[in-house]
Amino acid sequence: MQLLKSLYKINSKSGKEAAIKAFVQGYLSTMNLDIRCDAFGNLFITKGVADSYPTIVAHLDEVHDVENRKIVVEEDMIYACDNGGNRVGLGADDKNGVWMALKLLEMKPILKVALFVHEEKLNGEAGCRGSRSCNLAEFDNAMCLLQCDKRGAQEVVSVGKGDICLCEEGFIPQDILDRYGYQYTVGGRTDVVALRERGLDKNCCNISCGYYNAHKEDEYTLFSELENALNFVSHVVDYFLNK
Ligand SMILES: [Zn+2]
Repeated sequence: MQLLKSLYKINSKSGKEAAIKAFVQGYLSTMNLDIRCDAFGNLFITKGVADSYPTIVAHLDEVHDVENRKIVVEEDMIYACDNGGNRVGLGADDKNGVWMALKLLEMKPILKVALFVHEEKLNGEAGCRGSRSCNLAEFDNAMCLLQCDKRGAQEVVSVGKGDICLCEEGFIPQDILDRYGYQYTVGGRTDVVALRERGLDKNCCNISCGYYNAHKEDEYTLFSELENALNFVSHVVDYFLNK
């Protein structure tokens, strides 16, 4: 849980992602990975050498602007307070996704990770700026894109906001979904929705990763649900690696 707490402590308000990018690059520095930052600030990380890669997607930014966040763990629940003991946003949207990407880079021999900047809307301006700006050719060697940026514990978004179809039916086999208690659902906008809108021709989805009340002061994570999400995505990655 130490890695997760370290991520939560970093202020990564949209447009201020330098600190979390430096942390991610430092964390991965001993792992002999290919780490690139594009012109817009998005990070692309590749582990191993293969023709194609299961690809994990998350976003580096958060809506909150909190310095000196104190992380509180009460049994399975994790939340944040300021110095005065008042609840403040945790930033689990989408540090939980970033945590999963880092864990999976440790676990898997072959993997690609895309960490986008500026997914959240700021001052009424459109979000998904990093994913709307990046070169789609970054994903020429992606087998599929698994984004971890959905509240709750049970959902795999297969149709994004605006009726954007994200993946083919049966993209993740039913027996794997059942084993971890996941089901397909509709809704929401995030980076993979923006990429599909732009014409990316790869199966994508957005997966629940254990956070609740995103964008609010009482945001929290249920750690057992985040761990289940990691086990689920790990299984899905293995399925694609062995396909
Ligand atoms: Zn998010």
